[in-house]
Amino acid sequence: MINIEHLVKNYGKIEALKDVSFSIQPGEIVGFLGPNGAGKSTAMNILCGYLSSTSGSAKINGIDILENPIEAKKLIGFLPEIPPLYLDMTVIEYLKFVYELKGCTLNREKHLDEVCSVVEINEHRNRLIRNLSKGYRQRVGIAQALVGNPPVIIFDEPTVGLDPKQIVEIRDLIRRLGAHHTVILSTHILGEVQAVCDRIIIINKGKIVADEKTENISTVLSGGRDVTVKICGPEKEVLDTLCGMSGVAFAESLGRQDMDSISYHVKSSPGIDIRKALFNTISHRGWPVIGMESTGANLEDIFISAVSENDESSETSSKSKKTKKERSKK
Ligand code: ADP
Ligand code: MG
Repeated sequence: MINIEHLVKNYGKIEALKDVSFSIQPGEIVGFLGPNGAGKSTAMNILCGYLSSTSGSAKINGIDILENPIEAKKLIGFLPEIPPLYLDMTVIEYLKFVYELKGCTLNREKHLDEVCSVVEINEHRNRLIRNLSKGYRQRVGIAQALVGNPPVIIFDEPTVGLDPKQIVEIRDLIRRLGAHHTVILSTHILGEVQAVCDRIIIINKGKIVADEKTENISTVLSGGRDVTVKICGPEKEVLDTLCGMSGVAFAESLGRQDMDSISYHVKSSPGIDIRKALFNTISHRGWPVIGMESTGANLEDIFISAVSENDESSETSSKSKKTKKERSKK
């Protein structure tokens, strides 16, 4: 659906994107996560045809955004960081304007009614955008992205500046849109991707530092995963079996806990999710597994570790060495 290959963007001497590649399949809800200044907006603006790249390509359904922008843009609805709203128009006037701008061919009344219902803004359709709260303005911004019913919707920092109730509502709306659209949610907020996305791409200083399913990302990045497993079976034999499994770095008994089961702490080798193999091996020996809980690092730890690992790897450059020295002087 979306293919980004070797994207580079320089603003003068600033390298905002350094060889960024990823692809997104239809129906995915992907979080594009990174700290401020990481290059998220730059990447999203290039993908949506608002900005040209220095080199590399962005394709939607095989259509290159630079070679055939009109066709490519029909496939994408975009909510930029600062939505392009006309404050002196009413909601419905604005949406009609966007409809014309996009050269839509769907039945106008019916389509705009549907869009207003999806973003729940029907009661406000005749109000001036100027008089709407930030939360409702953001809904109008989302409505604008939905006009024309594009298969891909891209949100750039959609909840910045909203109050907690509005944040929950906008996240719910994005999640609902994910049922019928391919969604990219660009944000610096971890909880946001965790709440909404199936997959997380982490970007830092213009480079992709992680790209994983949300459920797997802790395994891949935390350098091992801790699992607590409750097994009914002879303690020593169970422990020997656990220690002998490939992919297990460490196992210990936590002692007898309830009824005839014993809890064990198992640590897997880096990058391995041991849970399925653990279940299969233990139940194959005829010992029932009656509970399993993963106690891996939370996303916040992972994000910080992914971002700082990336910083360490760039420390070969003389500039960052100097900063490190300067820091140690203090
Ligand atoms: P993010 O959206 O992740 O916060 P941006 O893509 O906005 O990051 O910015 C990436 C880098 O490019 C930052 O260092 C930023 O200062 C720089 N940058 C962004 N836009 C411009 C611009 N128009 N001119 C010069 N530098 C820019
Ligand atoms: Mg940004």
